[in-house]
Formats: sequence, C-alpha cells, structure tokens
Amino acid sequence: MSPIPPLTIFARRCYVRACHARITLMIMEHPLDQPVLVLNRLWQAINTCSARRAMTLLYQGHAQVVANQGASHFSTHDFVSWRDFSLANPEPRMLQSVSLSIRFPRIILLCFFDRLPKKDLKFTRQNVFERDKNTCQYCATRFDRSSLNIDHVLPRDRGGQTTWENVVCSCIPCNSHKGNRLPHEARMKLLKKPARPKWRPFVNITFAGGTDNSWSHFIDLAYWNVELGE
Ligand SMILES: [Zn+2]
Repeated sequence: MSPIPPLTIFARRCYVRACHARITLMIMEHPLDQPVLVLNRLWQAINTCSARRAMTLLYQGHAQVVANQGASHFSTHDFVSWRDFSLANPEPRMLQSVSLSIRFPRIILLCFFDRLPKKDLKFTRQNVFERDKNTCQYCATRFDRSSLNIDHVLPRDRGGQTTWENVVCSCIPCNSHKGNRLPHEARMKLLKKPARPKWRPFVNITFAGGTDNSWSHFIDLAYWNVELGE
C-alpha cells in the first residue's frame, strides 16, 4: 500500500478539525446548554448552570423558574406553573417533546437552602441587610435598601471595627443623628445586639458562561455582595 501523501494528511486533519469545531459549536449553541442564572433562597445570584440542569432541578421540585415580567417585576413558577406560563407566553425556541412544550428558563431560584454546598458567610452589605431584615436598628423602621446605610455602633474613628458585631443597618436620618457617637450618647437604642448570623450561604458566583439580559437585575446587585472591609 502506498503511503498517504503529506498534503492529503494535512487536508484530512483540517477536515477533522473543522468537523470538531462545528460539533463543538452545535453543542454550545444547543439551548439546553445555555447558562441559567441560579439564585439562592434569598434571591442572591450564586452561580450558573445549564438549562438542562435547571430543567432537572425544576422537574424535581428543587428549584422554581424566575420569569422577568418587566421592570423589576418577577414571578416564580414550579414545573406545572412554568408549563402553563409557557403555553400562554410561547417563545420561538421551546423545549419540545411529544406531550410537552415548555420555555427554557433563564433564571432559577433554589428552594432548599440546605441542599447547597456550605461556605463561610461572606461579610457583605447585602448580608448585613439580610440579617437586619432591611430594618433600621435604631428607629425599627423597614426601608428600601437604597435608603439604608451601614452604621458602625462604635464609630470607626473611635476604634470601631467593621465586623458583624459592630455594624448594623441604619436609615440615613438615624445615621446622621448618631454621627460620631455611641448609641447611648445619642440617646438611641439598638433593636438588638449585632452578631454574626447563623445562616450560611454558599459558593461564589462566576459568570464564565456569559450572561443574559434578564440577569441584569441580579448581577447589578453584585455591589451588595462585595466583601466589606476597613
Ligand atoms: Zn432609623
């Protein structure tokens, strides 16, 4: 048998490479492989997974789909509700089977906190606000997060540390009134002594698989997930 000429070998390699590239592209483009944003029970973006994995979690009842319904309005759906929502609001690309036509989720909300890998709770603005339930710890009023500050109980320039035990959620008027004083010096009383929360969320989020427009509400909140420091 005569040896294969070098040019033919090269051409074959090119063809094989082209086929691989095409197959890879086809796999990457498959809607079931598209990334889905994963939120924890506190609606914090924690990870991404494939639409395939999201559908499994949805079907098993471990997650709900979060549907963006304009502005900052979101609805959540279990499997049956998502199927009905898909029928009422079809998209060009749907997951089709003999008996089912359902939309691909873009965001899911995990239902069970304790099924997640645990990690040390990050000391973040978001988590301080979660701990204090968006409530000013001085006047006991609940506010929108944009109207809340982080207050150092013992002020920083008097040696107060930025720790779970020394920061609380505070409204801007209370924060201004307290100023550079201890609560009792300002005749203010804390709702409760600040402490590290008992709950623990999980993995750090990365967005290696790209992002979807509908994620912006949650990814913009990455600001809240920045670790606090001195
Ligand atoms: Zn207040």
